[in-house]
Amino acid sequence: MQNLLHNLNPEQLAAVTLPAQSALILAGAGSGKTRVLTTRIAWLIQTGQISPGGILAVTFTNKAAKEMQTRLSAMLPINTRGMWIGTFHGLCNRLLRAHHRDAGLPQTFQILDSGDQLSFIKRLLKANHIDDEKFPPKTLMYFINSAKDQGLRAAQVDASDDFNRKMVGLYDLYDAQCQREGVVDFAELLLRTYELLSRNQPLREHYQERFRHILVDEFQDTNDLQYKWLKLMAGAGNRRPNAVFAVGDDDQSIYAFRGANVGNMTAFEREFEVQNLIKLEQNYRSHGHILDSANILIANNSKRLGKNLRTDAGHGEPVRVMEASSDIQEANWIIDEAKNLIREGSARSEIAILYRSNAQSRVIEHALFTANIPYRVYGGQRFFERAEIKHAIAYLQLMDNPHNDSAFLRVVNFPTRGIGARSIEQLQDAARLHHISLYAAVPHVAGKAGSALANFVRLIEGARFETQNLPLPEMVRVVLDMSQLLVHYQTEKEGADRIENLEQLVNAAVLFVSEEGFNKEAPAFTGPAVRQPVLLTNGANDVIIDADAALPTVMSPLSAFLSHASLEAGDNQAQAGQDAMQLMTVHSAKGLEFDAVFITGLEEGLFPHENSAQEEAGLEEERRLMYVAITRARKRLYLSFSQTRMLHGQTRYNMRSRFFDELPDESIKWLSPKVQPSWFGQKKSAWDEVPMAGVNQIAQNFSQTSAQQSWRVGQNVEHAKFGEGVIVNIEGSGTNARAHINFGKFGMKLLDLSIAKLEKI
Ligand code: ATP
Ligand code: MG
Repeated sequence: MQNLLHNLNPEQLAAVTLPAQSALILAGAGSGKTRVLTTRIAWLIQTGQISPGGILAVTFTNKAAKEMQTRLSAMLPINTRGMWIGTFHGLCNRLLRAHHRDAGLPQTFQILDSGDQLSFIKRLLKANHIDDEKFPPKTLMYFINSAKDQGLRAAQVDASDDFNRKMVGLYDLYDAQCQREGVVDFAELLLRTYELLSRNQPLREHYQERFRHILVDEFQDTNDLQYKWLKLMAGAGNRRPNAVFAVGDDDQSIYAFRGANVGNMTAFEREFEVQNLIKLEQNYRSHGHILDSANILIANNSKRLGKNLRTDAGHGEPVRVMEASSDIQEANWIIDEAKNLIREGSARSEIAILYRSNAQSRVIEHALFTANIPYRVYGGQRFFERAEIKHAIAYLQLMDNPHNDSAFLRVVNFPTRGIGARSIEQLQDAARLHHISLYAAVPHVAGKAGSALANFVRLIEGARFETQNLPLPEMVRVVLDMSQLLVHYQTEKEGADRIENLEQLVNAAVLFVSEEGFNKEAPAFTGPAVRQPVLLTNGANDVIIDADAALPTVMSPLSAFLSHASLEAGDNQAQAGQDAMQLMTVHSAKGLEFDAVFITGLEEGLFPHENSAQEEAGLEEERRLMYVAITRARKRLYLSFSQTRMLHGQTRYNMRSRFFDELPDESIKWLSPKVQPSWFGQKKSAWDEVPMAGVNQIAQNFSQTSAQQSWRVGQNVEHAKFGEGVIVNIEGSGTNARAHINFGKFGMKLLDLSIAKLEKI
């Protein structure tokens, strides 16, 4: 027992060994919250207070769940595979699989990730002849998700005006269509589980009886429904409620835009009658200058629960700040600094590049690619979201659940097999008329269209028959062949990558089967405490089987694999592998740590983001995001911004982020002149001398010829809006040429020479 606890400070120790009551650990970044939570699980098991099967632990990502399991197995000689450690979505999926009938779902229900959900909604609007200009699909998606996140079905949403009444109607249609197709979106996983457990008393009591200890990491980012879900699981208000151990940091609440409610922390204290509130104030992650920067920055927020962080690690290196003239130059500077770190012995995976929006990664990726540095992008286009993988998955989904219309539409004519838009329309009409899925409607379509569609159905049925006794990876392989996907990409010009990805899908299946233990000898999800099947009966005499016992039989390897693909696609993490630099948004960096961190694009409008900076609440959330970003770094922190940036096809001229004014001067080292604008600057700084092959050729392109005009530095020009100005620099060439122009009272602008309406004067 000594072993488990000897690495803890007194406050951490107190937290780990609290009695079996609800507790809140409120502490800043890097203070060991996750470590405390994991150690508490181990301690509860080791001291015999609970069996591994009695623990329910909620993490924020699938990756965090895996890591927790790995750490636990290192602490205790147990097999953690079957333990209930996962994200809210993952845990709900597991419950719904086991109790699909009670939840009113088909056994093979499938999960829509957010990309699927959006196309589903577009399809729904079209089928119902709704004007998608008036009712944009994204708005509807947001409407539905936020209603579900609050635990509200369409009938429970208050609609104040015509627009909202229409949205409510569409929400209802959407749910009905999901039900017909046997698909659920992410928010539905939670809501369905919540409804299942609140309505079904024997089932609820069974799980309440079972999960005596519930532990939640990153509690500040739970939304209303998740909080209600926890209350239900814990039996809050029961005579003997379960112990909920919540750890969180109000300063790191960054998901308000998705309905997270930091108020849940205070509600939790009250409603769970928390006797034990523990604060951890020692930071074990970051050096002094980094921690000071984080502390001083976050002190600008007014709504805080209040806590401090200190470190024994010494000041360490100052935070380095870089001002670049363009996003390209920023990227090149990052790469030079990263190369230095690697030369000094840093592992690539210990270097992270963070940005506020995914769109920023392209320039950095390009520079990394050119410099031949391996890197991995977390978030963005993930493996399971690639088009070719989605196609292959759609075939598998149809074999598992033919009523999934999204999957049907994705591949019915891919690769092309002569089923045109007209045939699909006919089929959709038939499906609507008979209230059935597209697959089921095929026999109702006559003529040539009908026989082409029937061939497709035969293909799916054939694939199902051929693969019925095959292990999952072979099944995937057969489907790649039978669907003609491989052949299709062989004939495509850029198909080689896609074929490689499809091969990877077979590997993913191999890995999945071995990790989840799907083989005949060892049924899946049997955890360390091998439990006897628990049989209960409810009022209607239906047999309810405990999820653990039920899973191996109810969830086929294919269904499990398909859930995994959807959940992984929704997660912000990528697969592990070779030593590579880590690129991700600040949001996905939550909970992680790296020796060196670059925070890029620190510009007004970008970070803080223009959508949030307008009002105080939004700005405070942006500041918390910045706090999260800074506190990911152990030893080195780099901040950068750029005067100009190409984003979403537009060039932006940027002021540096206000967050720079909120950092302590003594912890910061400016690598470039602090005064803007600096492209006039005669003074060269170190990075100017770094050769930047083929990229930003500032001051080299003294003249450019656009379609009609030739331009040169020093030229006086007139612009319709900004008036008279003078060209001070030109970069890029041809249609990409852009110029910095000083417009006097309008200041400096960067304009596209091929687009801007400029006259020479
Ligand atoms: P975040 O808020 O970012 O999620 P956290 O509070 O969860 O941070 P952890 O990730 O648990 O913090 O811990 C931060 C780092 O400090 C980890 O590397 C952890 O191993 C280390 N650490 C935590 N407690 C101690 C301790 N008592 N002694 C040594 N190292 C510790
Ligand atoms: Mg943590």
